[in-house]
Amino acid sequence: MEECLFCKIVAGQIPAEKVYEDSDVIAFLDINPRNPGHTLVIPKKHFSDLLEMDDEYAMKLFVAVKRIAKAIKDGIKADGISISQSNGRAAGQVVNHMHVHVIPRFFNEGPVGLESILPTKKIDQGSMKNISNILKEAISKVSEVSKPASEKKEMEFEF
Ligand code: 5GP
Ligand code: ZN
Repeated sequence: MEECLFCKIVAGQIPAEKVYEDSDVIAFLDINPRNPGHTLVIPKKHFSDLLEMDDEYAMKLFVAVKRIAKAIKDGIKADGISISQSNGRAAGQVVNHMHVHVIPRFFNEGPVGLESILPTKKIDQGSMKNISNILKEAISKVSEVSKPASEKKEMEFEF
């Protein structure tokens, strides 16, 4: 992925304010921070988004996200942390290399939570049931092929 901006950051071809690195993951400050300490956590390997990632890599990435979120909360003395991750243009993804935003949040700022990016919608009971059925059917078909064979086990969903 030679033309990928974040692959270039991983390769050190473009400078970034790196705050964390391990064998699979790096984290660096967002160049246009939503708040001081806004950090991007990315896999070193190129995946376009979360849905493309194998489970083992996704687990490693999110363990790093948790660690960085804790460090930002302690280090920046944030009141809270927002984790944001977009998949595809419709979701607002601009950079096509999987990344997780870890954003410190403060009581004295504007609107908080999901409502600030996407207002709630009224959906009637029948449609909710229909959507639930569609999702249950779809989830039962999502295989665990991306998981290493050694860790494959039946996933259980409770509805
Ligand atoms: P997205 O909208 O794709 O979820 O977020 C992409 C993020 O990458 C944006 O918040 C943007 O500020 C950040 N970004 C874009 N280019 C660069 C860059 O060259 N360096 C760094 N550190 N961040 C970048
Ligand atoms: Zn890339």
